[in-house]
Amino acid sequence: MVAPGSELDPHLSALVGDTSSESDVPRRNRVFCNRNLRMNQIEMIGFDMDYTLALYHQAKLEELSIELTLGKLIDKWGYPTEIKGLTYDPQWAIRGLMVDRQLGNVFKMDRHSYVGRCYHGYRRLTVDERRAAYGNEKINLSSDRYEWIDTLFGLPEVVMYIAMVDWTDRHGPGSGLPPYDRLFGDIRTAIDEAHRDDTLKSVIKSKLPDYIVKDPMLAETLHKLRSAGKKLFVLTNSLWDYTDAVMSYLLDGERKASSWRSYFDYIIVGGNKPAFFNEQRTFAVVDPATNKLVPGEVKQLSRDKVYQGGNVMDFEAMTQIRGDRVLYIGDHIYGDILRLRKHHMWRTAMVLQELEREIAVADRLEAQIRDLDLLDRRHRNLESEIDYQVMRQKKIQRLLDEDATNPAMRSKLEEAKRSTRAVLESWRDRASLMNAEVDALEAKVDRTYNPYWGSCLREGNENSRFGEQVNDYADLYTSRVSNVGHYSPLRYFRAPRRPMPHEI
Ligand code: IMP
Ligand code: MG
Repeated sequence: MVAPGSELDPHLSALVGDTSSESDVPRRNRVFCNRNLRMNQIEMIGFDMDYTLALYHQAKLEELSIELTLGKLIDKWGYPTEIKGLTYDPQWAIRGLMVDRQLGNVFKMDRHSYVGRCYHGYRRLTVDERRAAYGNEKINLSSDRYEWIDTLFGLPEVVMYIAMVDWTDRHGPGSGLPPYDRLFGDIRTAIDEAHRDDTLKSVIKSKLPDYIVKDPMLAETLHKLRSAGKKLFVLTNSLWDYTDAVMSYLLDGERKASSWRSYFDYIIVGGNKPAFFNEQRTFAVVDPATNKLVPGEVKQLSRDKVYQGGNVMDFEAMTQIRGDRVLYIGDHIYGDILRLRKHHMWRTAMVLQELEREIAVADRLEAQIRDLDLLDRRHRNLESEIDYQVMRQKKIQRLLDEDATNPAMRSKLEEAKRSTRAVLESWRDRASLMNAEVDALEAKVDRTYNPYWGSCLREGNENSRFGEQVNDYADLYTSRVSNVGHYSPLRYFRAPRRPMPHEI
């Protein structure tokens, strides 16, 4: 069946809304919904910049972050120059990992915050070692001992930490590196400094095409939202000079608009999220020419000015748009999404750059994942049958013990005992074969996502903690902002019905 509108010229259909049915949007470009959201009730859409409007070439940015951090560690902290010669493989980090500064471990958690797979340097801990280190306890996420890596900016820290913990273990006291806890602290401080003192940003600004992904559909998407009457704004933690450089690269000259600023009603830089959402900092005007703050109180927000700082309450009061009519699109669970959701203010959409690859891998492995599910289910069924037979065996033994005087009954029971034992033996053999097969298939599927960590959204056969947070806090999620352009600006996004275990 031809969907209404699908015969239209693509440019016209981009303007009028739904071009076709949702099934025409490739899965990797879809917007997924956790909580119902009617776009026709959204009056204003806000955008974070880094990793939201501006996606980074991750490998390049990590390479640069690592190079600058190592330079600082060697020059300022006196680290041995040998650390420059270590291999820093970006595959050692994914979003959602936890660093244990005390033991020098890095691990992934399941949705209940229990430790899943865990590495010390490049060595994976055995199940027994993991139990000895973490028992059967939930991880206390707010403890200083742990660092939760929930932005893509944080991945180089993990890659460096793993490589340097390995170096420390191999060289013992002569490694020249501090204990695990301070080691992570130093890496964190050095990378933080690289973000703040312009060493990182000056390189990015000088080679924007090397570091920033230019999405050809971004301008069209923003235009489509504006044409539907939505107000748009940028709210970023980056400061003006960097924001201007990146946004100009992304949008200036696209769709014949000379400046990126024409797409946005309000521009807020240095927003200091999450403080923007739960503190009372004031807005200040930035002079775009000098990048300096202009003295004076901000009483209203205007289109032709750039603002720094501020807070959500003043923003809502000055724009006179109710919180539930604002949709904010960001990439950082803690900085962009969680506060908003916890305080029931703005609606949220999360950009998950990893999703394109996660979906591509899941599509490629579809048959194997189905086999794995089936095998896993059969294995569980067999295990419950085994449990049942074990119980039966015990019952027979009890009867034998009690009824030892009746020879006829005794012989029947003995026969039943023999046959149950034979059945159990063969089933146990089968179960252990199936178990090995499930493990092998699971490892194969996992390795295709990432050789060390598997999918960032899943751990074992349930959501990872990170996947669970996306589920819990982001109303919508998608791999890039321009995916929103595939849908009508009036669309009613509906969450799928999620059955409880008893309904499956
Ligand atoms: P946003 O995502 O647009 O709000 O901006 C993120 C900003 O945070 C960018 O300017 C990053 O350079 C900056 N950033 C990321 N990680 C760190 C850090 O560890 N220390 C200081 N700034 C950071
Ligand atoms: Mg961001």
